[in-house]
Amino acid sequence: MVTQRITDFLATRRPDGPCLVVDLDVVEENFRAFRRALPDSAIFYAVKANPAPEILKLLASLGSNFDCASVAEVEMALNAGVTPARISYGNTIKKERDVAKAHALGVSLYAVDCVEEVEKIARSAPGARVFCRVLTNGEGAEWPLSRKFGCVPAMAVDVLSEANRLGLKATGVSFHVGSQQTDTNAWDAAIADAKFVFDALAEKGIVLTLVNMGGGFPTRYLKDVPASSAYGQAIFNSLTKHFGNQLPETIIEPGRGMVGDAGVIKTEVVLVSKKSKADENRWVFLDIGKFGGLAETMDEAIRYPIVTPRDGDEMEPCVLAGPTCDSADVMYEKTPYPLPVSLTVGDELLIEGTGAYTTTYASVAFNGFEPLKSYVI
Ligand code: PLP
Repeated sequence: MVTQRITDFLATRRPDGPCLVVDLDVVEENFRAFRRALPDSAIFYAVKANPAPEILKLLASLGSNFDCASVAEVEMALNAGVTPARISYGNTIKKERDVAKAHALGVSLYAVDCVEEVEKIARSAPGARVFCRVLTNGEGAEWPLSRKFGCVPAMAVDVLSEANRLGLKATGVSFHVGSQQTDTNAWDAAIADAKFVFDALAEKGIVLTLVNMGGGFPTRYLKDVPASSAYGQAIFNSLTKHFGNQLPETIIEPGRGMVGDAGVIKTEVVLVSKKSKADENRWVFLDIGKFGGLAETMDEAIRYPIVTPRDGDEMEPCVLAGPTCDSADVMYEKTPYPLPVSLTVGDELLIEGTGAYTTTYASVAFNGFEPLKSYVI
């Protein structure tokens, strides 16, 4: 969303080169909307979405907790002013020495999805709380996170039993329904799976208390998406359907939904050309591409809204590509992107919905291009 504050910032500061501008007022509004949507769930912001210190500090001051994927992210959250009790080490894939470092920093909540990971935590963070991630099918998500993370619910029972046997606190179940999840009912099957694991462990005398319902809350790109209140209602209905009046403690870990629409990337048209006179589509090359931060255009998964100074002119489908000497650096070709026929070299474009998963994906110096600059206002 190009807010007035972003427009004013770009007009007065005129930063050179591609850059991301994030409006903290939008982040704050998103945080409050999540609070209203799921008032009984603790919010653990997924730091990976955008770890800018200003964002972490704002969220810390609003009462957010933090889902971290690495020791570096744990340190970022601590630097934002939160205690380790407000941090979850949510990556299921950790080096044992990183578990030891996080333990030394005071982190006591860890994700696992197999016995091998449980053994590392038992050795390097004795007595820690662990939750086991279960697989989801990722249907309805534009950026699925299935397959790589999680185990089947029956195995989660074994993993958490082993955690308990090794002296850890088997605390709960987690899942992620896939990022940019457009189906508000996608949480239902995973909550049913969590209940299955709760019941199976209760039979063994192990009482779980926590369901970590992950991220997945969308940002509006080209298509409208349901409001966070609709997600809140659907999730609450599923929790009561499966857990009755014995609701567990719950966590959500929004990343994209917290910061995506707060950011806008300013970019410039470097070249407009055709491959032959008969070429159907013009090629529009920008000064940012897949390696400059727009990695989520991979497989054309995320289609960002683009504002041009010539909106209102006649439009035609264009191939949209980045500036590097890598032929993979083409963003939209299978489904060309409609842009004004009059678009020309030097025009500045605004790519909306780019507050999440951009700065951290940008390469440090591929082809000598600087990493994506970021301004948080
Ligand atoms: N939690 C975990 C464990 C994740 O891996 C991710 C994203 O990769 C998130 C939360 C944030 O997901 P989203 O950006 O879809 O909200």
